[in-house]
Amino acid sequence: MKRAEINEFVFHRNAPSEVRFDIFSKKRKKMFRGIHGKGGGFMLQWESGGTKSVRRIHVEEIREAIAQMAIHSNTFLPQDVEQVIKNRKAEETDSRAKDILEKIESNVRLSEEENIPLCQDTGLACVFLKIGQEVCFEGGNLYEAIHQGVRDGYEKGFLRKSVVEDPLRRKNTGDNTPAHIHVDMVEGNQVELTFAPKGFGSENMSQIKMLSPADGEQGVIDFVLQVVKDAGGNPCPPIVVGVGIGGTFDLAALLAKKALLIPLDQKPEDSYYADLENLLLKKINELNIGPQGFGGDTTALAVKILAAPTHIAGLPVAVNINCHVSRHEKVII
Ligand code: SF4
Repeated sequence: MKRAEINEFVFHRNAPSEVRFDIFSKKRKKMFRGIHGKGGGFMLQWESGGTKSVRRIHVEEIREAIAQMAIHSNTFLPQDVEQVIKNRKAEETDSRAKDILEKIESNVRLSEEENIPLCQDTGLACVFLKIGQEVCFEGGNLYEAIHQGVRDGYEKGFLRKSVVEDPLRRKNTGDNTPAHIHVDMVEGNQVELTFAPKGFGSENMSQIKMLSPADGEQGVIDFVLQVVKDAGGNPCPPIVVGVGIGGTFDLAALLAKKALLIPLDQKPEDSYYADLENLLLKKINELNIGPQGFGGDTTALAVKILAAPTHIAGLPVAVNINCHVSRHEKVII
């Protein structure tokens, strides 16, 4: 239903705890019949048949979840990332690289034990929402609740505030807001919230390029390797490499960022992309950049690719780099 199509709500009180309402379109055609009961939710019934139960979620729940995730994600490295660091340390042949991976592991342990951030750069708050289309938010503005959650989490967790309100005049907002919010609508009546604080040592090393379709797979491989070479030790390797292929200029960049949220031990269902991820990881780890840029077999922990349909005349490719502090956390409400 498009909001613009609704013209009129007509309410009828049936009982103290129950309100019935009808929704009419601009042409006075009845679109829905609804019942709002004392259970807190309401039911929409299409005039054409079928019902939809709508789940109400108070935005306070979202604020609270964001505040907790801001602190937790900055303190605890995801298990899958920790596991790959451990595996790579076991396989590393360069003694200095092995030693650095050992230090990274003890840094992770120290953060957990002392309840302190994994890194001084506690990142720009990137928030991803998958909102079930049967969810209705109440109690205020959803986006403002997310910003408030960031404010509260960064304040309570003594996390560094790293956001400037204007990219050229550069005055710090003082509370790490605004968050960058990305929304996808999905089926169902739940909300999936992902919080990913993004440090800029690695963000600054990311690139995008509009390749020609004729550049094909080899063009993508060459570009990804060039981006990692250009980055060198700057993004605090071992890195996670998110690659977005296809879509448009903007979608490719968003895909690359979303690719960084995929668990490192999860392989694409499409074996073509699973093979491409493996090939890129092997080639990146042959570059000998190594942990913190001091050489070794472990330049990247993983390569993650997300692809989307694109135009016949284009082949956009974006590479978003994350450092070894590859932080993100997900909750479902
Ligand atoms: S790139 Fe990562 S590890 Fe390096 S300073 Fe930034 S957040 Fe910290």
